[in-house]
Amino acid sequence: MPDLNELLAQVDETFDDLISLHRDLVRIPSVNTGVMPTGNETEAADYASQWLAQDGIEAEVIESAPGRGNLIANLPGASGQNKLLLMSHLDVVPVEDESKWNYAPFGAEIEGGRIYGRGTYDCKGLLACQMMAMRLLKRNGIDLSDNLVLASGADEESGGRYGFGWLAEHHPEKIKAPYAVNEGGGTHINIAGTTTYLLGVGEKGRLEVKLTVRGSSAHASTPWLGDNASYKVAEVLKRVESYQAERDTTSPIFNYLSTLAIEDVATPENVDQIIEDVRHRNPQLSSTLRALSRMTITPTMMSGGIKSNSVPEVCHITCDVRTLPHQDDAYARRELEEILQGMEGVDMDIYYMAVPNSSGYETDFAQRIKEATRRSLERDDLNWIPSISTGFTDSRFLRPLGTTTYGFNGSHPDDDPILARMHGTDESIGIKSLMSGTKIMLALAYDLLSVK
Ligand SMILES: [Zn+2]
Repeated sequence: MPDLNELLAQVDETFDDLISLHRDLVRIPSVNTGVMPTGNETEAADYASQWLAQDGIEAEVIESAPGRGNLIANLPGASGQNKLLLMSHLDVVPVEDESKWNYAPFGAEIEGGRIYGRGTYDCKGLLACQMMAMRLLKRNGIDLSDNLVLASGADEESGGRYGFGWLAEHHPEKIKAPYAVNEGGGTHINIAGTTTYLLGVGEKGRLEVKLTVRGSSAHASTPWLGDNASYKVAEVLKRVESYQAERDTTSPIFNYLSTLAIEDVATPENVDQIIEDVRHRNPQLSSTLRALSRMTITPTMMSGGIKSNSVPEVCHITCDVRTLPHQDDAYARRELEEILQGMEGVDMDIYYMAVPNSSGYETDFAQRIKEATRRSLERDDLNWIPSISTGFTDSRFLRPLGTTTYGFNGSHPDDDPILARMHGTDESIGIKSLMSGTKIMLALAYDLLSVK
């Protein structure tokens, strides 16, 4: 049986297959608008399952609703138990303004070592890497101790109700495994002459807070006879803007600042100064530290009034709230109540959109990801830090099943993450990252599962 070095060499040899797989996936426009009918993930899932079937890999496409296909493939191991889950998603966000694109959004054009198109990076790049890794394990007849599962879900971009959320509820046995890798990490920061990878260990939570602000109506020609709700809105917004969120340095990233050439030990007292100092050297890192050291409350939508000559009686404000992993909805509610203290006629409804979640960082699985990366890139000088993502991914459906889930896409250290323009115009992925991602997924699966 070939050893890992031979397998990794085969990734270079099958380079063309990987590129054409990735481009074919991108050319299937599985756009998710969030409003049914949408997604069309079944077409992408069918393509992927047929591609895997060429090597005799068992794959099934399970629809949660018509057109909303989820792909699950399985390489069985001796125990019959799932051990490693390779995760991704099949849907992509819409193209906002095609006229701004320099490339056909679903053309998968290649230029300057990059492939351009919606979904190239998010998330068909990771899917292609995982599929190719699975193919090479199967092709080489590698004996596995336990099952390797590949699952690519529908609807990630719109909350996962038709994807991993649905799978976790209806088919948990198919996706449940001790370990999983998904998007939501694996980019790197170049700072002070070193390369540091971010391993995604958790995600902030998201709540939507709807504030109803009430006054009383009157004719606009005699406004003193009413109580104009819009002035209360102004007061609410002023209070939210000046809200000083509690500073918090318990996120694991703050234990690893020295890796990023930050010598101070972060505390709630000095964290703002650290963030300000870092801003000049690395604005992206500064922004990450800011997001990971507090809850944020951001007013995003407003409406009010029903007629241009009436004093508005009711106005509505919607706020986007992002909580740290240990901050529950009771915490968010307490903070908001404090902000609104003493204001009459303001009601609050809180809706949980995504529960904050995290996996531990000091685990054997994290070590194995680091080792797989070291082997694949042939680099002994890589640093690592645990990161909490400010957005959320499907990982939040796996962590409650007991799965240690890390965000790690295996992008290449020469590939600048800023160029990916995830969700933006001219989204792209570096071909080097497709190669490195495939090698890392392969090395990780081989290390965890092969019978030695
Ligand atoms: Zn994604």
